[in-house]
Amino acid sequence: MDVFRCPQYALGSAVAPVGSLRDKLLVAKLRLHALQNSLEEIASHPDITTEAFLRQFGFSDAMIDGFFRSFYGGIFLERELQTSSRMFEFTFKMFTEGFAALPAGGMRAIPEQLAARLPADSIRLNARVSSVESNTVSLESGESLEADHVVVATDADAAAHLLPSLFERRKGWRSTANLYFSAEISPLNEAIIALNGTGTGLVNNVCVPSDVAPSYAPIGKSLVSVSVLGNPEPLDLEKRVRNELQDWFGYEVHQWQHLRTYHIHHSLPQQAPGSIVPSSGFLTHNGIYVCGDHCTTASIEGAISSGLHTANAIRRS
Ligand SMILES: Cc1cc2nc3c(=O)[nH]c(=O)nc-3n(C[C@H](O)[C@H](O)[C@H](O)COP(=O)(O)OP(=O)(O)OC[C@H]3O[C@@H](n4cnc5c(N)ncnc54)[C@H](O)[C@@H]3O)c2cc1C
Repeated sequence: MDVFRCPQYALGSAVAPVGSLRDKLLVAKLRLHALQNSLEEIASHPDITTEAFLRQFGFSDAMIDGFFRSFYGGIFLERELQTSSRMFEFTFKMFTEGFAALPAGGMRAIPEQLAARLPADSIRLNARVSSVESNTVSLESGESLEADHVVVATDADAAAHLLPSLFERRKGWRSTANLYFSAEISPLNEAIIALNGTGTGLVNNVCVPSDVAPSYAPIGKSLVSVSVLGNPEPLDLEKRVRNELQDWFGYEVHQWQHLRTYHIHHSLPQQAPGSIVPSSGFLTHNGIYVCGDHCTTASIEGAISSGLHTANAIRRS
């Protein structure tokens, strides 16, 4: 809960058991730091690990272990906090300046809204690209398309496959498994994320998307989302997660109906210090443009801003 935007929670937050009073004052200082530094300035800050950044900033072990590892574990998909401190500064700034949001129609509502503003025949789906040249795109179907400009807006692996000479080495991926359950009653009953700050166990965080957008569950039901970081052993995963969540929410977890488990091996490109490439937000190679989250900060914001920078560069050219 951001006490600066919801001051009624300030007292509760000051005495909450996560971190010392000094840590809480440091959060206020970090917030100011995020507001005072532009995205361009953040991109030129020293690039160290997030853990090193938090220690340099003065946070205690208790705050780092009890809060940052689980909260940022859910964002970076790693609890070791080895992700670039520029990525940390970027996401902290986003949380400070804006609000986390969930589209009522699901995440696909974002590309659908973007696509709806384009001419009907401007997007071709299910057309896998096999190779690109500066003015030609070849599809796996054998068809060739000519264009004034070619932009490779794929994930990092596909871009490296299409343009091997541009990428010296692949970045690697962060993975996650997401388990979804249907519950009669929301175990949280408010728009919050429950974090595992204990440092042990499988589950990193739990949220109930239908507490934010009721359209995520049928009327009278709640959708519970459980995140496990990395590539957990699939055998009995649901059972092990349920047993662990019994300590969080009680025996009611055994009444939940398991809907589905997704193992997403390629969730986010790894973003070690030094890996957030150009400040322009895109790359070029033999007249071909490359954009996407792997060129900036691995996020929707990063992917969109990379696309915008590329489009502006093409307009200017
Ligand atoms: C579980 C999960 C939760 C996330 N939560 C958040 C969040 O809360 N907030 C946030 O900001 N970010 C989040 N992210 C990250 C965010 O989704 C990504 O950073 C973003 O979608 C990247 O967009 P992109 O356009 O760069 O790449 P992508 O979304 O990967 O799009 C690349 C496209 O290229 C296509 N493609 C690949 N190869 C070819 C080929 N040869 N021919 C034709 N097409 C090809 C792919 O099919 C794909 O459609 C999350 C990611 C995951 C997996």
